[in-house]
Amino acid sequence: MNKAQREFDVVIVGAGFAGLYMLYRARELGLSTVVLEAGGGVGGTWYWNRYPGARCDVESMQYSYQFSDDLEQEWEWTERYAGQPEILRYLEHVADRFDLWPHIQLDTQVTEAMFEDGSGRWSVRTGQRDEFGAQFVIMATGCLSATNVPDFAGAETFRGRTYHTGRWPHEGVDFTGMRVGVIGTGSSGVQSIPVIAQQARDLVVFQRTATYSVPAHNGPLDQSEQTEIKAHYGAFRTANSRMLTAIGERRARTDLSALVVTAEERQAEYEARWRDGGLPFLGAFADLLVDPKANDTAAEFVREQIRAIVRDPRTAERLCPDQVIGCKRMCVDTNYYDTFNLPHVHLVDLRESPIEAITDSGIRTEGGHYELDAIVYATGFDAMTGALSRIDIRGRDGIALREAWAAGPRSYLGLGVAGFPNLFTITGPGSPSVLTNMIVSIEQHVEWIADCIAHLRDHGYEHIEPTADAQASWVEFVNQIADFTLFPTCNSWYLGANVPGKARVFMPYVGFPSYAEKCEEVAGRGYEGFVLEK
Ligand code: FAD
Ligand code: NAP
Repeated sequence: MNKAQREFDVVIVGAGFAGLYMLYRARELGLSTVVLEAGGGVGGTWYWNRYPGARCDVESMQYSYQFSDDLEQEWEWTERYAGQPEILRYLEHVADRFDLWPHIQLDTQVTEAMFEDGSGRWSVRTGQRDEFGAQFVIMATGCLSATNVPDFAGAETFRGRTYHTGRWPHEGVDFTGMRVGVIGTGSSGVQSIPVIAQQARDLVVFQRTATYSVPAHNGPLDQSEQTEIKAHYGAFRTANSRMLTAIGERRARTDLSALVVTAEERQAEYEARWRDGGLPFLGAFADLLVDPKANDTAAEFVREQIRAIVRDPRTAERLCPDQVIGCKRMCVDTNYYDTFNLPHVHLVDLRESPIEAITDSGIRTEGGHYELDAIVYATGFDAMTGALSRIDIRGRDGIALREAWAAGPRSYLGLGVAGFPNLFTITGPGSPSVLTNMIVSIEQHVEWIADCIAHLRDHGYEHIEPTADAQASWVEFVNQIADFTLFPTCNSWYLGANVPGKARVFMPYVGFPSYAEKCEEVAGRGYEGFVLEK
């Protein structure tokens, strides 16, 4: 039997960076609010991804909230790129500092969210059959929270231990003396492989697509650098938000094409950015993500670094990616390529010999059988839509979001969906989200949503929902911009290509500043493109 439904103004699903800040803002507006979180703690990504080597790849001084000056000033980051435990501690501190815990219900998986046409309110149900009624539902469910576990034949027969990087055991895993297989060489694989290699007796890396990775040059955060940034944190944040990716760079950006400078100038710029480390490598020239020839100059530079680092020429060639650099999200590593110089680390190229099956004792590819004690799935996520499509979300007339999005997600600004009144998605598809420093995108969305709800309340409106026309034009615009870039040229998770059967649609919007401006304009014109109802 269902328990009595509890009534709120707002139900927020998810207690990561997005859900915590949304709760803070909703409470400031005086809205009765509950956060429902599937995990046993707050932190989202940083609660679940406890694999060895997990850390941010946007620098700590940027990968943090900016909504509170006091929080910004008092928190001391210890490393250039904070590790998972430190980021989790930070988010737990945020929950403590702003007294958020009383409004958060943990271990609560939301399974259904239904808009009831009669009452005009949402009814949210959980795996424990709890029911919550609300005027607004805000999905802070994360772009990278629904794990992707490929359906390998025989997987259930494996007698060793199996892990997914995105669901890592809290007590940690000791691989000492074990034969370990890692499937996947995206960011999670690239971060975990060098650390697992330090413990494992034998490590076999199963690579389907070679990855471009730039060194992190991680280390203790220089105290003087931290003090200097804190002295003008606001200006630092503003400058970063003006970048396409909302990620600041240590080196001044030029608007030059990679093809107008001399080969020596180009090489010098790439070398300098390689020495700096991190994602801003791709900011070297303005046309790297729009012109294949320009792109290839950067790609070849990275391939040269790989050939210089990896001693065995065959392994080096297999590690050299051939897709457009930046088409799949760039990785940032500590000793990734170097790890393949260790005698007990082996690379299996799945393009030469695909996985046939997982057996009771290991992995069988077309080329042979690998005996293993443990398998690590570093196989990523059903990105951007996965967490939403795993909830049965129904809007007006019982229309299911899963059906509305069967041919790919359709959303206005990545914030709202036609037919789903008072449902907001933080960093939803059609917004810059995963192409940016996500904390900047999250804060921009949370503030827009909070202002929107305040506007509705102040003007006596009950409901808001995008028009089908505004949504259709936006989806078309997002695609036009993507088509102008090289992003659609490879099988990335941005396109849903990593999940068999998922519609192939480029999901994020390219360019934070123009997007933020558009959102402001929409709000300034009384929520143009939305229908507001009394
Ligand atoms: P999440 O942190 O994913 O939180 C969503 C929460 O919603 C989760 O706790 C989940 O359990 C909960 N949830 C989902 N569905 C339900 C449901 N049905 N019921 C109840 N609860 C639910 N981004 C960057 O910009 N820079 C980085 O350096 C960076 N590093 C990353 C490293 C890793 C390992 C990963 C996986 C991602 C990284 N990201 C990075 C992206 C990262 O996801 C975001 O930066 C940010 O943490 C997202 O916060 P969020 O609150 O939107 O989502
Ligand atoms: P990912 O980038 O999607 O990488 C998954 C890897 O698994 C890819 O190499 C993929 O190969 C492989 N794979 C998937 N299915 C497979 C199959 N059936 N057979 C063989 N190989 C398969 O996932 P991720 O590494 O977890 O990263 C996801 C995103 O999270 C990142 O892009 C980033 O945004 C974020 N992240 C950031 C960090 C960080 O450094 N701060 C760390 C982790 C994650 P293909 O490429 O061929 O599909």
